[in-house]
Amino acid sequence: MPLHPLNTSPAGARDQSLLSPSDYYDADAASIRSDQDTDSDDDERQLRARNSRELLAHDRLVLMEEDELDQLVTETRRRQQRERSGSALPIPNPLRLLTRRMSDVSQSRSRSRSTGPADSADDLALDKRGMRRARRKAKRDRLLADAQHGEDGELMYEMEEGGMKEGSSTGESSDREDSDEADRKGLLGVTEAKAKRSRDCRRWLLVHALIIVAFAILFLLAWKVTIETSRRKSAQVVQSMLSNGTAMFAPTTILISLDGFRADFVNRGLTPRLNAFIREGVSPPYMLPSFPSVTFPNHFTLATGLYPEAHGVVGNTFWDPNLREEFYYTDPTRSMNPKWWLGEPFWVTAQKQGLKTAIHMWPGSEAHVMSIEPTYVDKYNGKEKLSRKVDRVFNFLDMPDVDRPQIIAAYVPNVDGDGHKFGPNSTEIRSTIQKVDTMLDKIFKGLEDRNLTNIVNVIVVSDHGMATTDVSRLVQLEDLVDLNKISHTDGWPLVGLRPKNPDDLQGIYDDLKRKTKDMPHLDVYLRDVDMPERWHFSRNERIAPLWIIPKTGWSLVKMDEMNLKEAQAQGLVYHPRGLHGYDNEHPLMRAIFIARGPAFPHKANSKLEPFREWFHPSVWFCTTED
Ligand SMILES: [Zn+2]
Repeated sequence: MPLHPLNTSPAGARDQSLLSPSDYYDADAASIRSDQDTDSDDDERQLRARNSRELLAHDRLVLMEEDELDQLVTETRRRQQRERSGSALPIPNPLRLLTRRMSDVSQSRSRSRSTGPADSADDLALDKRGMRRARRKAKRDRLLADAQHGEDGELMYEMEEGGMKEGSSTGESSDREDSDEADRKGLLGVTEAKAKRSRDCRRWLLVHALIIVAFAILFLLAWKVTIETSRRKSAQVVQSMLSNGTAMFAPTTILISLDGFRADFVNRGLTPRLNAFIREGVSPPYMLPSFPSVTFPNHFTLATGLYPEAHGVVGNTFWDPNLREEFYYTDPTRSMNPKWWLGEPFWVTAQKQGLKTAIHMWPGSEAHVMSIEPTYVDKYNGKEKLSRKVDRVFNFLDMPDVDRPQIIAAYVPNVDGDGHKFGPNSTEIRSTIQKVDTMLDKIFKGLEDRNLTNIVNVIVVSDHGMATTDVSRLVQLEDLVDLNKISHTDGWPLVGLRPKNPDDLQGIYDDLKRKTKDMPHLDVYLRDVDMPERWHFSRNERIAPLWIIPKTGWSLVKMDEMNLKEAQAQGLVYHPRGLHGYDNEHPLMRAIFIARGPAFPHKANSKLEPFREWFHPSVWFCTTED
């Protein structure tokens, strides 16, 4: 529909060409006269005729306007539907549009009334127009109600407020009065719309880019989780059942402790089997024991991963001021009470996980730790032959799988015994080292015979080294301390002192410091003041408050053990010939750690950096590949 005939601006401002005879809208129009021509009957008739024609033309225009309004509302609602389904372009608000048009009509009406005196014809015409207006108003109200109460009425209002005040393509009646202005606003509207479409496009691209990035991140996370799961599954495969051809084996580990086997003993040409084991497996050049470097604290450290100050077995012998009892390692009636053993050893951990364990003479295994027993326990027997240990290992390993333990821990005291009795450089210990190596060779051959070399893990460790003693490296304890002031002496060859009167502690310490000032082979420490932190030997009341620590190879002797002056005068030999318990970082106190098996996926002959023995066996499986 052409836009020009739809002009609804006030009649006085209307373009005269719209009422000219040449106008196709009103071809029978006789003349064009002003509303001011009045008075004569002819003129009146003429005026009536003219007014009738004008009114006819005007009515046509109004009807067309009404049709246009209907169409406009319909168009608006269609556009609204399109906008909702896609574009976010502003939607014209029929409410505002109608309000403005009603305002225009009202304006026109008031101008019409002001054009001249009213007559009956005019009144009649006005009545008719009033009726039409009423109908139009009713129709507009209905449309308005639809627009307002429709589901998008409010949205349209908001959009109108935000974007329809300028540049409306449907336009306001006042805008139509100035086509240039309308064009300018229309152009502005198009520009605005383009800009908005551009912004929408950029927003669309940004949103989709963010979605793509988020999807990529999710994909990477999922990929990483998949890889991690796959890696864990492959690790589980190592831990899953393995067949040696005749039976299925759950992950199984043999742990053997060679008491007192100093790290450098493998370099004496006496241990072909251990040297082959090192080449086949993974090992550090040595493993550091815990302080003090004695058997019971270190075996429980090996079993728990805790320092002695944490697991409570702080020495082979010690006094507990709270229990008011003394721990003495060689007296099982005292030492094998769970109140002394305060950590969780690996056999308890395994039993709690439903695994079976077999513990052959490991220090503490008879102590009912945490009231959980190993499935199989062999009591300590210091005279047991090495061949018997080999038999015990295979007794356990050859059990049917429902009975077979997955951890077999064996304790071998022979090297330590010969080290104490004959010294670490004795002929006797050389023989014992060879015998222990032979014992290990039988175990490895037994595994090979059973096709278990790559199925069963084997770990060989020791708890400390050994240092040679000599009567020339002894100190008479009574020369340093008035033992009448001491209630308990702990440890050996270290000496822990507990004064009867705690108030004497500082005085005894000061006296000791003064007396040992010229004895570089002795150190004196107060547990709570100057004990070296690296020893982790202070945070437990079972540790005596005052200590005399001899340098490696030195020892303190009480008078009832040996009268030092007489012994030195007579040239007596001090026994034991070998001792340990010294500074755990001294080279003569170094222990060993060698491992092989499916839990150690290291290349053969892998070398690790030296480490402390605080590795719990369950942690050993996590050692880093070299
Ligand atoms: Zn030992």
